Amino acid sequence: MEHLLSAWNEIAEQLKKASHILLLSDYDGTLTPIVARPELAELPEYSRHLLQALANSNNITMGIISGRALADLKDRVGVEGLIYAGNHGLEIEGPDLRFTNPRAKEVKPLFCLMGKVLNKSLGTIKGVFVEDKGLTLSVHYRQVDEDKIEELKDTFERVVSGAQTLGKIKVTPGKKVYEVKPAVDWDKGKAVKLLMKRFGRGGRASGLMPIYIGDDFADEDGFKAIERYGSGFSVFVGDGSQPSNARYFLNSPDEVALFLSKLLEHRSGTV
Ligand SMILES: [Mg+2]
Repeated sequence: MEHLLSAWNEIAEQLKKASHILLLSDYDGTLTPIVARPELAELPEYSRHLLQALANSNNITMGIISGRALADLKDRVGVEGLIYAGNHGLEIEGPDLRFTNPRAKEVKPLFCLMGKVLNKSLGTIKGVFVEDKGLTLSVHYRQVDEDKIEELKDTFERVVSGAQTLGKIKVTPGKKVYEVKPAVDWDKGKAVKLLMKRFGRGGRASGLMPIYIGDDFADEDGFKAIERYGSGFSVFVGDGSQPSNARYFLNSPDEVALFLSKLLEHRSGTV
């Protein structure tokens, strides 16, 4: 991977050729500094100003694609005129744009019901937190006592097993969390492709240049979508020696903010 800011001159040359830039970014750990608890992730005020300027720019379309629920993401960022994609892009909202993955929409009532049942049946175990994200669910158990974990797992499995057997949902165990998602073939890469199609109507000849920035495993699908497209920039945030599908890297969210400001300056200079 090449350091994006070190390669800036060469990148600026390529940007000049683009008629329109589709700038897509992850939220946690990319626009915000990494924090111990996700509820504490805050967007620095400086970055919020940058995002507002990007949203106002007429030759850049800026979107944020996150694993968070759409409403939560919109709340945290609070900038008008951006594209927001929640639940890894299962739901997307922006100026003149509204999309919900049709299969996820179908199972939404099931998720609502499962959320209620999980809340009720796990309510007796201290420290469990069921996060209802609308189209997905997370069961957090970091605060649960060790000797209650077995009971938690049994109860959880009992509640979700029916829907799982029917192939309606998939369960991904994480670090002291269960993620329950609709069993649909969807990821951040598919969301990126959907947006590229929408904003680059004539395909590659449209002059659309997509950029995807992210720091996590789920962002690799976004990088792949850019690389497959054949032009644009895939940018990993973190240690550049780590394996990734991205072609470029930035060391930190601070460097992401620096890149965004350089991009803005460059675009306003070319209009
Ligand atoms: Mg992230």
